[in-house]
Amino acid sequence: MTDCLFCKIANHEIDAKIVYEDERAVAFRDINPKAPTHVLLIPRTHVATLNDLSEEHEADVGHLFVAAAKVAQAEGLSERGYRTVINCGAEAGQSVFHVHLHLLGGQPLGWPPFPRH
Ligand code: 5GP
Ligand code: ZN
Repeated sequence: MTDCLFCKIANHEIDAKIVYEDERAVAFRDINPKAPTHVLLIPRTHVATLNDLSEEHEADVGHLFVAAAKVAQAEGLSERGYRTVINCGAEAGQSVFHVHLHLLGGQPLGWPPFPRH
């Protein structure tokens, strides 16, 4: 997709701190990290939200988790633990409409990941 920030990062048209990439996925550091390690993993294929996924995307999405485990290993998080999150839509706070898996770690992570009222 031509007007998508994350497609442009995947195509190296916009700079990002890329930590891993292969034929299906690209992983780069979040510009506004919420933990010592905060990496975003995206499929090269543009899909806006989880709601827009279909069977044809299963391999791409599964691959994100395989790539996330590799990045976690490289970041020294495999044994310490880490979290993966995909936000979908307004109440989850999705702000970029190209599916992305957040990989967070490097400190104890709270649960649940939202304030209780
Ligand atoms: P969402 O809120 O949609 O789940 O996550 C979007 C994430 O993308 C946010 O954590 C935000 O900090 C990150 N982000 C937004 N714009 C950029 C950018 O231009 N570069 C990088 N590396 N991250 C970005
Ligand atoms: Zn895109």
